[in-house]
Amino acid sequence: MKLYLATSNPGKIREFTGIDVEMMPGLKALPLAPETGDTFEANAIEKALYYGAHVDGWLIAEDSGLEIDVLGGAPGVHSARWAGDDEANNQKLVREMAGQPLRTARYVCVIALVHGTTVLGTFRGTVEGEILDAPRGEGGFGYDPYFLYPPFGQTFAEIPKERKSEVSHRGAAIRLLSAWLRENASRPDTR
Ligand code: IMP
Repeated sequence: MKLYLATSNPGKIREFTGIDVEMMPGLKALPLAPETGDTFEANAIEKALYYGAHVDGWLIAEDSGLEIDVLGGAPGVHSARWAGDDEANNQKLVREMAGQPLRTARYVCVIALVHGTTVLGTFRGTVEGEILDAPRGEGGFGYDPYFLYPPFGQTFAEIPKERKSEVSHRGAAIRLLSAWLRENASRPDTR
C-alpha cells in the first residue's frame, strides 16, 4: 500500500525523512484544504480526509504550530497565518514577546493517517523551547530562528536538518507514525 504525503509547505516536506512516503499527485491542482478546527488533531484529520479522498492508498497530512505559554497558547492552530506570512508572523512574535520574562513555548505536530474516509490514527509530537527576542540562524522555516532548543543552546534555524528531526515535534510524530505502520501495516483491516 502506498503512503502519500499531502502538504505544500516546502519546510515541512524537507523534514519528512526516515519514512517511505510519496508526495500526493495532483495536490497543487486542488483548492487548499479547509482548516476549521480549533485543535491540531481536528485540523490534521480535516486535511487528511480532504486530500485522502483523491488518492488510491493511504495518506498523511499534518497540522502543526507554536504554543507560547505567556500568550495563552497562541498562535497555536493559527501559527501559519497569525499575521500573514512567515516574516510578518515573526515580527508579531517579537512585538508580543517584548519585555516578557516568561519565554517558554513548544512546537506541536499532529500527523493524521487516513485511508479513504477512514481515519487510521493521529500521531502527536511536541518539543519544548524558549522564544528569543532576536533571530539566530538561517536554516529551518517559520518561527525557527526565534525558537531556542535549550539542550543544544541553539535555535532550530542553527542546527542541521537531521539534528532538528531527532528532537523536533515533527520528528517525534513521524517516529510514532513509523512505529504504528510497522505494527499495523499488514493487518487485513488496514490493507
Ligand atoms: P499549518 O500548515 O496550518 O500546519 O501551519 C503550520 C505553521 O506552524 C507553519 O506555517 C509555521 O508557522 C509553524 N510551524 C510548524 N512547525 C514548524 C517548524 O518546525 N518550524 C517553524 N515553524 C513551524
